[in-house]
Amino acid sequence: MSSIADNLGSVTRRIQKATLQAGREPDSVKLLAVSKTRSPEELREAVTAGQRAFGENYLQEALDKIAALDDLTDIDWHFIGPIQSNKTRQIASAFSWVHSVDRLKVARRLSEQRESGLPPLNICLQVNINNEQSKSGCQPEDLPELVSEISQLPGLTLRGLMAIPDPEQAESALRASFRKLTNTLKELRQKYPEAGPLDTLSMGMSGDLEMAIAEGATWVRIGTAVFGERPSKS
Ligand SMILES: *Cc1c(COP(=O)(O)O)cnc(C)c1O
Repeated sequence: MSSIADNLGSVTRRIQKATLQAGREPDSVKLLAVSKTRSPEELREAVTAGQRAFGENYLQEALDKIAALDDLTDIDWHFIGPIQSNKTRQIASAFSWVHSVDRLKVARRLSEQRESGLPPLNICLQVNINNEQSKSGCQPEDLPELVSEISQLPGLTLRGLMAIPDPEQAESALRASFRKLTNTLKELRQKYPEAGPLDTLSMGMSGDLEMAIAEGATWVRIGTAVFGERPSKS
């Protein structure tokens, strides 16, 4: 069985290779280690191996881990799961990034509840890129309004877009989904040059990170390839 350190090494090499092949800058793609269901000890192992950015999906689980790893100072916590609007206060205080903002109400609350002593919360808008009714994320046509409203919120910095395209679709369709997210961000940047850096595309997971990087990903969110298979829910 390979260790978390070995896995981080091989994921990092996959990222470097894909970045090079895409003709992109070596540091333009960052690894978010998705640590849902993983123990504080496993995260510690990843930190010892040099990993600093962790993505969590479930708030209570994340808060418990953040408390357990309180002695580690320079960890960046990213919230990537569905957001209940009555939970925004804890998200706003414990995380430095939120990838899964999909409605204005949540954005307003995160902004209001972000403590003024902290830098603005980095956010991505999650887009339902395959137009599936069941999945979370805003519709692409909602983006102009969301971007223009959110850019006014003082507690947030609008970094870009996130998507979880349906991994079951054919490779060409998956690639087209990634490309659509990239093009959508480009259009928003042209239309709303003052809205924020809009420099971030959070897309690509263990199985498709190469394709996502070829299409412009700047954060790849990697769980299984770093920590191994997640135990199935009993
Ligand atoms: C679990 C999860 C991932 C990581 O998926 P893997 O296939 O294990 O790499 C990435 N993004 C989100 C939003 C997730 O929930």
